[in-house]
Amino acid sequence: MQKIEHIGIAVKDLDKANELYAKLFNKKHYKTEEVKSEGVKTSFFKVGPNKIELLEATNPDSPIAKFIEKKGEGVHHIAFAVTDIVKEIERLEKEGFNVLNKIPKKGADNKLVAFLHPKSTNGVLIELCQEI
Ligand code: ZN
Repeated sequence: MQKIEHIGIAVKDLDKANELYAKLFNKKHYKTEEVKSEGVKTSFFKVGPNKIELLEATNPDSPIAKFIEKKGEGVHHIAFAVTDIVKEIERLEKEGFNVLNKIPKKGADNKLVAFLHPKSTNGVLIELCQEI
């Protein structure tokens, strides 16, 4: 893994959260994107070299809706950049991690992504992402 690519935060209301985080960072988000397959709407902020992704559910079956129901709003995942996601999935499976999707899927921000189940990573949902 190369670096933390971004940190994902689950929010109930993306418009309100965008305003709040714009005040916090003293700059606006630079893009929003809907990922229909995941049932989420996202926005991205740049903070120095780091990125923050806000995620809002677009339907009640969305993983974000379920997360907020269980845990409330808050840090949802940490994403790590990888150069070869297929190889990395293979390696992590061999190490005993529970990879939620063995075939990388298209995520937000023009990335191929895969997730590791928090049960196998001390309670943290980990996203692997590779630039397409
Ligand atoms: Zn993410």
